[in-house]
Amino acid sequence: MAMERTLILIKPDAIQRGLIGGIIARFEARGLKVIGMKMVKMSAAMSKEHYSHLTSKPFYPDLEKFMTHHPIVAMALEGKECVQVVRDMMGATNARKALPGTIRGDMSMSTSRNIIHGSDSLETAGKEVKRFFKPEELYEYTFAAQEYNYAPDE
Ligand code: UDP
Ligand code: MG
Repeated sequence: MAMERTLILIKPDAIQRGLIGGIIARFEARGLKVIGMKMVKMSAAMSKEHYSHLTSKPFYPDLEKFMTHHPIVAMALEGKECVQVVRDMMGATNARKALPGTIRGDMSMSTSRNIIHGSDSLETAGKEVKRFFKPEELYEYTFAAQEYNYAPDE
């Protein structure tokens, strides 16, 4: 299986609620590699691009206000099949329907204030990592104990 990259955003509600570390810890424990990480304040233009599939929805004005009024933490993660692995770890968009054990299902209660964004496909992930990180902000390195994360034939 090929290595993939995906984009995570730790949303303003998570920052206000002191959940940054708790969210990052989940990904580290799973064995995903952090290859980029920074705080960013999204602009209205970035929000419109990032949520272009939602700009016509009635909730979009609130979503843009929410995502842009406060800095967020952006992370690029790398791992085998990590786009789907991260989506599964996040849980359903409506956090009240997210299964216990998922990040949203353990730490949030809302469809909007649902603490985390993760890219929804490999194609989207490629665009989203580029949207938030310059090439020089992404780091290539190997885990010293990589052979304990994956078998050679995976
Ligand atoms: N959202 C919302 N109300 C809705 C649906 C979505 O406020 O009814 C927000 C929510 O913050 C969600 C984001 O828009 O995480 C992006 O929606 P999407 O359908 O892409 O869900 P996700 O990929 O985040 O699970
Ligand atoms: Mg989405």
